Amino acid sequence: MDHSLFIYNTLSRSKELFRPLNEGHVGMYVCGPTVYGDAHLGHARPAITFDLVFRYLKHLGYKVRYVRNITDVGHLEHDADEGEDKIAKKAKLEQLEPMEVAQHYTNRFHEAMAALGCLPPSIEPHATGHIIEQEALVRQILDAGYAYESNGSVYFDVEKYNKDHKYGILSGRNLEDVINASRQLDGVGEKRNQVDFALWKKAQPEHIMRWPSPWGDGFPGWHCECTAMGRKYLGQQFDIHGGGMDLVFPHHECEIAQAVASQGKPMVKYWMHNNMITINGQKMGKSLGNFITLSQFFTGDHEKLDQAYSPMTIRFFILQAHYRSTVDFSNEALQASQKGLERLMEAFAQIERVEPTEGGALTEAYAEELKQKCYEALDDDFNSPIVISHLFDACRTINQLVDRKQTITPSGLEALRQTLNVFVHDILGLRTEAQGGSQREEAFSAAVDMLLELRAKAKAAKDWATSDAIRDRLAELGFEVKDTKEGATWRLAKN
Ligand SMILES: [Zn+2]
Repeated sequence: MDHSLFIYNTLSRSKELFRPLNEGHVGMYVCGPTVYGDAHLGHARPAITFDLVFRYLKHLGYKVRYVRNITDVGHLEHDADEGEDKIAKKAKLEQLEPMEVAQHYTNRFHEAMAALGCLPPSIEPHATGHIIEQEALVRQILDAGYAYESNGSVYFDVEKYNKDHKYGILSGRNLEDVINASRQLDGVGEKRNQVDFALWKKAQPEHIMRWPSPWGDGFPGWHCECTAMGRKYLGQQFDIHGGGMDLVFPHHECEIAQAVASQGKPMVKYWMHNNMITINGQKMGKSLGNFITLSQFFTGDHEKLDQAYSPMTIRFFILQAHYRSTVDFSNEALQASQKGLERLMEAFAQIERVEPTEGGALTEAYAEELKQKCYEALDDDFNSPIVISHLFDACRTINQLVDRKQTITPSGLEALRQTLNVFVHDILGLRTEAQGGSQREEAFSAAVDMLLELRAKAKAAKDWATSDAIRDRLAELGFEVKDTKEGATWRLAKN
């Protein structure tokens, strides 16, 4: 762990040297999905971003506890304390038990995440499984004097909090801006101030999901679950809290206020936020109705899609941009990613066909330099596009080695193979998507090698007709055969 890893902290608006609170350990909390619909491309971005963070921290030798919640209650229609519960609403539409809806979409979410190569988090707590912890949090905030009960609901007193601590430190807003921007009709007459947010909400008769509490039957406010569950599994203070940029306000701002109000000090050291995926410059989101689900991408079944895109293409597309930049969706951009990924994985597979030579021009130093460059990029706030550009440079070298325009020593080749394996597989989490798996690939490769051996024999016997026929047939099938001084080489020509 002699790395100087720098992480952009939204709180300080600067890159900070990463120093975990407990040496050798990292606690990371990431806001997970609200399970009332299929995951779309917008959900893939935080999942892949924090998967990269998780993988890299583990690679550096940290013991990482990665907690990502499942929101199965309480996240209301307009990101605020008004409207109907999203999950209960969907349940009514589909005539299902609310938990049946939540389970269905949780399963679908897990399938999509596995397809995208995202490692499962260490703990995946459900909001409904932590009502007691959330009630305890509400009680603490009430006891500290930063909340009040009103007509069976409990609200956070933002103005009072703002006098003692500052509200808005994460988003850089001051209370007046928030008041001016706030047009919440819900809770009018119950709240002291329109900016106050619900910690506990009284259940109306039509609410299916409800729990008993000291304040009457109800359900927790959306912001409570992350504070309560983060603290339960990672402690009063932990290292990283992540999520999409759209969560900075109000969700994460409210989380900070709840933590400080309940325990007197903040909970999170580094706040990390990924940027949005846009369609024609507009954020992709369920509430905006312009989203494309991940399964639609995988099947190509959507009017905006020219073709199906594999999960690894989506992963590569997302990793090709730095997580804090916006990414605009287009078929052209995805097709470019698909080609790029094929080029990378093809070269990566070709390395098996490189024949090393003692005294080759490239040695272990070449692999070491590549490794250092990739580390440098990752240490600079997880700069995956730079890592990918270094890997493309390595691809060019591999192709030269295959074409015997470059030479490498046996130990240099082994070091290069290992380095690529670490960055391509372990850290970027990319894998080959061959239909029949790699065994099949290997068998095909061996068959092509065998044909080229037959061709070499035919040539040696001056049987030009056979030799040319083999080359032409292979070309028709998409293999590009090149004759070099040391014999023939081949690669799969991409059109
Ligand atoms: Zn959250």
